[in-house]
Amino acid sequence: MPLFSYHCTGCDTDFEALVLNSEPPACPKCGGTALEQLLSRVAAEARTPGVVKAARAQAAKEGHFSNY
Ligand SMILES: [Zn+2]
Repeated sequence: MPLFSYHCTGCDTDFEALVLNSEPPACPKCGGTALEQLLSRVAAEARTPGVVKAARAQAAKEGHFSNY
């Protein structure tokens, strides 16, 4: 079954959902559809435990400095 992991950029929630017909699901917490699809949360975290955190920190940093 096509079980995908998603990260909601609206409320910063990670969740998994069955996806049929390639239609992206809505966030179960806030109902938002601004989602990032994660290939495999387990494998991704096992391979690169610090990368996602670093990437988010970097993104936050860049978002901050983009105010210049
Ligand atoms: Zn959400």
